[in-house]
Amino acid sequence: MSRTSRKSPRSRRAQRSYESHAWNNGFAFAVSQLVEIGREFYSRGWVLGTSGNFSAVLRREPLWLAITSTGSDKGHLLPQQILEIDETAGVFRGEGRPSAETALHFAVVRDKNAGAVLHTHSVWSTLLSEQRASEGGLAIEGYEMLKGLEGISSHEHCEWLPILENSQNIEELAREASNALQENPKSHGFLLRGHGLYTWGATIADAKRHVEILEFLMETLVRGGSTTPACQRIGP
Ligand SMILES: [Zn+2]
Repeated sequence: MSRTSRKSPRSRRAQRSYESHAWNNGFAFAVSQLVEIGREFYSRGWVLGTSGNFSAVLRREPLWLAITSTGSDKGHLLPQQILEIDETAGVFRGEGRPSAETALHFAVVRDKNAGAVLHTHSVWSTLLSEQRASEGGLAIEGYEMLKGLEGISSHEHCEWLPILENSQNIEELAREASNALQENPKSHGFLLRGHGLYTWGATIADAKRHVEILEFLMETLVRGGSTTPACQRIGP
C-alpha cells in the first residue's frame, strides 16, 4: 500500500476542502471577467440587444464551462447570469438556461483546446459576413493590428476567417464549425453569415484581445470601403 493511500480522514477532508475552494475561486474569477467583458463589449456596440455570448473553461476532463445565460443583457450582466454547466449543458450554478449557442462553444473549446470563447454581433461582422459570403471567408492582410493575434508577428500575415451560413439548427452549425476549424487550423475566428464573430483564446484575456483585434480590423475594412480580398486563403 502506498503512503498516499493511507491518508487520514482529516487530510482527505482538507484535500476536498482545498479543491472546492480552488474550484470556487476559478468560477468566481471567470464570472468577474465575463461580467467586465460584457460591460466593455456592450459599450462598443458589439453585443447589443442581449446578443452575443461568452464562455470560459472551468475544467477539461470532464468538460465544465462558465457560460452566459440565454437572453441576458451583456452590458449589465449579473453574476448569477453566468452559469456553471457540465458537458451535457446541465446547469449546476446560476439562474436561467445556458446560451442557445452553447453547442458552438463546446465545439470551439474541443477543436481549438480553447480556454475561453467569445461571440459578438457587431455591425462590422454582420456587414462583412454578408458581403464576402460568396468567397467563403474574409481575408485580412497588411495591418499592424494583426500582430495582436496569437502567434502572428508580421503585418504581412493573411488572416482567413471562414464564413458559415447562419442556421437556427445549432447542433448542425456546431458540426459545420468543427469542419471549418479543422480545414482552417490557422484561423483565429470564424463568421456566421449575417450574424457575427466567434473567436477564442487560451485564456479569457487572450480571447478578449482577439475580439478587440478582429473587430478593429473588420471596422477598418468596412469604414475604408474595402471590397476585394486583401490576400488569398492560406492552406493548413
Ligand atoms: Zn449569436
